[in-house]
Amino acid sequence: MMRKLFAASAAFLAAACTTIPQRQATPPVEIQILAFNDFHGNLETPPPVDVTEADGTKHKIVSGGAAHLAAALSGLRAGHPNTVTVSAGDTIGASPLISANYLDEPTIDAMNMLGLEFNSVGNHEFDKGIAELKRMQSGGCAKYTLRTPCAVEPFAGARFHYLAANVVQEDGGTIFPPSGIKTFETPAGPIIIGFIGMTLKGTKQLVTPSGVRGVSFADEAASANALVPKLKAEGADAIVLLIHQGGKTTNFTTGNGCDGLYGDILPILPKLDPAIATIVSGHTHWAYVCRGTQQVGAGRLLTSAGKYGYFVTDLRLRFNPRTHRLLGQDASNVIVGNGEHGDDPAVKGLVDRYAAAVAPVGNRVIGHLTATARKNDEDGESPAADLVADSMLAATRTAEMGGAQLALVNSTGVRVDLPGGDVRYKDSFAMMPFGNNLVVMTLTGTQLKAALEQQYAIPLRAKATRPTVLAPSAGFTYAVDLTKPEGSRVSDLRLNDAAVNPGGRYRVVLNNYLASGGDGISAFTEGTDVTDRGIIDLDALVAWIARGQTPPSDSRIRLSH
Ligand SMILES: [Zn+2]
Repeated sequence: MMRKLFAASAAFLAAACTTIPQRQATPPVEIQILAFNDFHGNLETPPPVDVTEADGTKHKIVSGGAAHLAAALSGLRAGHPNTVTVSAGDTIGASPLISANYLDEPTIDAMNMLGLEFNSVGNHEFDKGIAELKRMQSGGCAKYTLRTPCAVEPFAGARFHYLAANVVQEDGGTIFPPSGIKTFETPAGPIIIGFIGMTLKGTKQLVTPSGVRGVSFADEAASANALVPKLKAEGADAIVLLIHQGGKTTNFTTGNGCDGLYGDILPILPKLDPAIATIVSGHTHWAYVCRGTQQVGAGRLLTSAGKYGYFVTDLRLRFNPRTHRLLGQDASNVIVGNGEHGDDPAVKGLVDRYAAAVAPVGNRVIGHLTATARKNDEDGESPAADLVADSMLAATRTAEMGGAQLALVNSTGVRVDLPGGDVRYKDSFAMMPFGNNLVVMTLTGTQLKAALEQQYAIPLRAKATRPTVLAPSAGFTYAVDLTKPEGSRVSDLRLNDAAVNPGGRYRVVLNNYLASGGDGISAFTEGTDVTDRGIIDLDALVAWIARGQTPPSDSRIRLSH
């Protein structure tokens, strides 16, 4: 009887459908996209962050950590059958010790567990070179860096898809697929979304040149637009761009405003094909939701979820159930919190395993420093940078290790002060997190002066009163007069009190970032007799502190103006 009644009413409904208007019969189909960016290996809850509310009041929020992020994502997905999770790059790289010490393998594992499906590459994905990035995708324990892969457990690689639409190899192909398709089986039939992923075209200036040799980073809008016909041919009902480039707003808020949007994403937006209506951005570490403003474009949505897993952007795209046309969309940033959405037990288990593994590594006392070695906030010469230069020289001074006579280090790469007293490994890691290796080369006196001149040719950064400098090791001094014209600002180069001879040959130790032309100092690429014994800069610092040190006095560069 029940079945008969049901069949009869179904028949009635089927007949009624022809007369009742479509929009009344079936509501729009909603697709949920959960997005974040710039996670940077923050498996554990990062330090509190200051946010400004709409009324101008400031307060701190504690938010993030992979287990909290996973739980927040699960909560947001509840009741949404059509959902996909994506990231706009810098998921790995510049990570805390718990992830960096293990080549970010646990972060990839965490991303697998929390259901990430598409991840655009960002600049930091290239920190350890392309071969190592490909290992992040495909897994395995092949060694492409000085650290030991698979140190805690085997590594199977990412189950999500890296996308790299503008990272072009010499053969014209991209290093990862440029785009991906996700099909949602809905009662209104399949809704298809195309995802394009890319990093900023300026990536080459932000990473160690030797790690990205042989690839170029193409224009963002041109690369994205070229994929639109292909995605349409594959049936895409909407196209979402995951781009590791972004903007900033006037204040760092909890992420739902767009006031005063500025930044490098803006010139890209008007060039994008109108079919790209949804843009998930990143790189600036800012959080915003911009809806259809003049800057963003009518009907368009531009979002970013800050950094470190503080926020998740919950995007909703609504489609006409009959034509599958995109009817509208909206988004909001949700605070991940510090456990308010719960803890994902599996992800927590992973994080706990790696926290236990890294604790003895991080807490090990490596030596003693008589006082805090301070960093200069404007990246000028500093006791911290000089201390690093001294450690590099000490590690490579012997003929066997390269026979270095002097060291130069980019002070921007020296991240924080090194606290005085007993120094722990985690303190030295925080100061030198990049894991560059030391390269010794021969430069003539002329080439050495050219390199020093080039550092002062870099335009002053917005608020800096001094240029960012190459900090020298003890015994190497020079004078600078910034009022002189470019190319003649550096004088009186001395090594152990003897004047540097233009025709003389000097063994100079640098990190591999500078040695391969980083920071625009091309003179270092002219070095000869290049020696790389595989010493990591951080290990050199650790060995130096182990001998017991006093912070240098930061008086090796004499600045006349
Ligand atoms: Zn970035």
